[in-house]
Amino acid sequence: MKTIVIGAGAIGLSSAYYLRKAGHEVTVIDAGQPGAKASGHNAGWVVPSMSTPVPAPGMMPQALRWMLRKDSPLYVSPSISPKYLGFMLQMLRNCTTARFEAGLEVLSHLSRETLQLFDDMAADGVSFEAHNDPLTMLYTSASNLDKHAAELETMEGHIEDFKWRLLEGSDLAREVPGTVPQLAGGLQTYGDRSLDPASLTQGLTAACRRDGVEFRLGRRARLRSATHGSVTVEVGQEALSADKVVVAAGAWTNEILAGIGSSIALASGKGYGYDLPLQPDGPQHPMYLAEAKVAITPLNSKVRIAGTMGFGKGTNERISRVRAEGLLKSLPAYFTQWPSLPTPAEPWTGLRPMTPDGLPIIGPLPKHHDVLIATGHAMLGVSLAPPTGRLIAELAVGEASSRHLSSLAADRFKL
Ligand SMILES: Cc1cc2nc3c(=O)[nH]c(=O)nc-3n(C[C@H](O)[C@H](O)[C@H](O)COP(=O)(O)OP(=O)(O)OC[C@H]3O[C@@H](n4cnc5c(N)ncnc54)[C@H](O)[C@@H]3O)c2cc1C
Repeated sequence: MKTIVIGAGAIGLSSAYYLRKAGHEVTVIDAGQPGAKASGHNAGWVVPSMSTPVPAPGMMPQALRWMLRKDSPLYVSPSISPKYLGFMLQMLRNCTTARFEAGLEVLSHLSRETLQLFDDMAADGVSFEAHNDPLTMLYTSASNLDKHAAELETMEGHIEDFKWRLLEGSDLAREVPGTVPQLAGGLQTYGDRSLDPASLTQGLTAACRRDGVEFRLGRRARLRSATHGSVTVEVGQEALSADKVVVAAGAWTNEILAGIGSSIALASGKGYGYDLPLQPDGPQHPMYLAEAKVAITPLNSKVRIAGTMGFGKGTNERISRVRAEGLLKSLPAYFTQWPSLPTPAEPWTGLRPMTPDGLPIIGPLPKHHDVLIATGHAMLGVSLAPPTGRLIAELAVGEASSRHLSSLAADRFKL
């Protein structure tokens, strides 16, 4: 079977990897280079313990309250686009405890085998930089700490081999030297991982090439037609046909679907980050600054700082320095001192593909069953790349068995 995958981010590459293993003749098309968008620009956490949907009780009021603060970690870009307003309204409807818990169930089920799948990929020669250090979360507010501790308790019931502990007083000072004395405390999780996301997309690209996947890079694709058993993709002046097409173009997915008059419920969630040089007194293991929503990931050659969630209607990649600098400005609320930088760091940005209920879309387009969608992974696209790719390969051969297929279906939203 001939299959085209549009998008060489973590999701498209993982889909190509598993489709090829399932015997498909696979071509990957990307407008740029593999991992050049969000998949290479993120915190690199593989976190089954954070399998929670973005829409959560209290999330929207917080985002709206912070709308006017130019350096806030969470905000909603104003727009009068009816589609975008409809999206935000649907998201608001998902900010209930019941919807949050239902979403947690689906995401934790999807992520339950991801660590094993990453190990299997590594054993198969997919080369990437990975770390197993525990993840430490720091809180300035005791109520936030209690709330998250309760969430982790729930997670323990969903995720095998997952452990966590409370960090207070001397434990906290020992685990994370240099924290401010006013901190409410910390939580440490065992069973999550971190990796260099760019190394993952490079490793997957190399493994796909090794296995015979063809790449067409620097070529913008758009669907031209989809009839039963044949889908045609426009790539510049060329038209390529295949039995199936997987659209895994992240926040750009609707631009590709527009070619056949289709669309899915998708918005973008803009994030920012910095890559800082390694320093001897810098952080030694991954940390999350809860109120600031900042992730810190020490890697072999740099320390990555990432965060911010800005809901927007399009795919605007403009960098707001004020917003990005909000990440760095949040550090003194947690640390007495932060290693000084020889030169000011340059921020980068990444667009997360967002859905109104915080669950990815993995499945066929309602009216075009040979067009499979794999997007909407929000803050979990790296974590969920292997199980998503495997599920796409199962769907392509008609053997998908996940009990959550309807929760992931493209037609679950009213557009
Ligand atoms: C600041 C930040 C921190 C994050 N931290 C984490 C984390 O710690 N853990 C985690 O799991 N997730 C994290 N995420 C989320 C994660 O990065 C995303 O969910 C994930 O990268 C989405 O992957 P993707 O393959 O769907 O999309 P993308 O990486 O955006 O890839 C889409 C690809 O499609 C291509 N494309 C677009 N249009 C076209 C076209 N017309 N033709 C051909 N190709 C096209 C693009 O060039 C791109 O390569 C974070 C995100 C951000 C922004």
